[in-house]
Amino acid sequence: MVVVEPVDIVAALLRALGEDPSRPGLADTPARVAAAYAELLSGRDIDPASVLEALPGEHGTGLIVAKDIRLASLCEHHLLPFVGTAAVAYLPGEDGRICGISKLTRLIDVLGKRLQVQERLVSQAADAVEKALAPRAVLVYAEAEHLCMTMRGARAEGSRIVTTEVRGLWAADAAARAEILSLIR
Ligand code: ZN
Repeated sequence: MVVVEPVDIVAALLRALGEDPSRPGLADTPARVAAAYAELLSGRDIDPASVLEALPGEHGTGLIVAKDIRLASLCEHHLLPFVGTAAVAYLPGEDGRICGISKLTRLIDVLGKRLQVQERLVSQAADAVEKALAPRAVLVYAEAEHLCMTMRGARAEGSRIVTTEVRGLWAADAAARAEILSLIR
């Protein structure tokens, strides 16, 4: 089997798009693009629950919200970025397990570094919080601009997509959901 390197594929793509990959401006582009994609997809093989290590000896009972988390990912339909913000809220479970707040930021980072759709990202984030912390309730919120929508096609400039995933107690409690969302937005 012939092993094809990403760098050669990017050069071939440029050629197929009518560009000359040997012209000075593009000479280093295939290597740069290959390195950029390797970084942008580096979360693919990381179990997202593994980044939510419980803080030893700490117990929480009240609501925990991490908001305005930077979200950046690649839409798997166009390989174009979507960027915005995310929030993760949870109510600790019976054993009070909590993780460091920075781990929630890391969770969104890991899930962004793979080919994604925004609806799946929030659901994978909720799965990870449930698996790692067994909370009473969890809500994940994401709001992002998709360049595949705003740079091309419908050219819906400035439009943003909002997705949420709600689990546990809050799934059946509209008032609680509204309260969390008002804290986040
Ligand atoms: Zn897209």
